[in-house]
Amino acid sequence: MLIVMEMNATPEQVEGVVQRIEEKGLKAHPIPGAQRTAIGITGNLGVLDRGIFESLPGVIQVIRVSHPFKLVSHEFKPTQTVVRVGGVEIGGRGLVVMAGPCAVESYEQTLRIARAVKAAGGHILRGGAYKPRTSPYSFQGLGVEGLEILARVREEVGMPVVSEATDIDVLDAVAEHSDIVQIGARNMQNYTLLRRAGRCGRPVLLKRGMTATVTELLLSAEYILDQGNPDVILCERGIRTFADHTRNTLDIAAVPEVKRISHLPIIVDPSHASGKRNQILPLSRAAVAVGADGVMVEVHDQPEKALSDANQAIVPDEFETLMEEVRLLASVLERNVPTYAAAV
Ligand code: PEP
Ligand code: MN
Repeated sequence: MLIVMEMNATPEQVEGVVQRIEEKGLKAHPIPGAQRTAIGITGNLGVLDRGIFESLPGVIQVIRVSHPFKLVSHEFKPTQTVVRVGGVEIGGRGLVVMAGPCAVESYEQTLRIARAVKAAGGHILRGGAYKPRTSPYSFQGLGVEGLEILARVREEVGMPVVSEATDIDVLDAVAEHSDIVQIGARNMQNYTLLRRAGRCGRPVLLKRGMTATVTELLLSAEYILDQGNPDVILCERGIRTFADHTRNTLDIAAVPEVKRISHLPIIVDPSHASGKRNQILPLSRAAVAVGADGVMVEVHDQPEKALSDANQAIVPDEFETLMEEVRLLASVLERNVPTYAAAV
């Protein structure tokens, strides 16, 4: 439910409504606007009687939010969310490019790739220290050592970093060492982890589960926002279908659908969506064309030696081409690929 205050409502009247909401055991989220304040309500498990609020001083309208999500919806926040991290903006007119190895393998490997990504104009360095692998016998990531490498490279190269927290035990360490905490596809419905991510003090990159609908993705984001963290970036990374020519099927239509409902930025990960090097460039073009706020791609300078996801990593030369093409397409769409003077 959303309560819209009169244009000349006083701060006391806003406070009065907030108090009434809290008396009902609910949570109030005042959103001051240029002309008027709106107050969102969450936590209402049953049907709320609109009349309780309609008669309060300063209230002009009470809107029942029909979607199952509230905080993530345009109705709740009409302006687009722009997440700012280390000088980089995600969700504005500028597109963001996150790139780097699937996994942090060593300091030298991460530094080399980070330099190549930065030189080509990439904005955020990705690299997993905790890897969610299908087989327990596959490389599981370097753990804390990997996070420390990422943090060192971040300083060395001057790029914010994103890394995945695979469970609540490692969340604090990931939040301490990286600028964005990634919640992976396999954890999109790990609600304990989502709540904790909502309190971690860092922006969260939330990847769509491989069998999750767009509604479920947005409800998972709602968990994070509900804990007081407004900085969520969504990521379409492919879903499971019967098609077997790619690892997953990139659901490109999810992007305009998310844009229709939500103010949150959404990027596309063509690497995990396709699992194939030759698909990364065309799918990145598609992502930009359909209105994504950026892409996240896996880059490795020696893919044949990569310890995970070797087949889907592009090499630095291919990444340079990707950047050029994303720039070209962005300009057609009245967007751009910014160069930040001093990120981090
Ligand atoms: C990743 O980005 O490192 C990753 C494991 O992706 P996903 O969670 O989408 O499979
Ligand atoms: Mn990977």
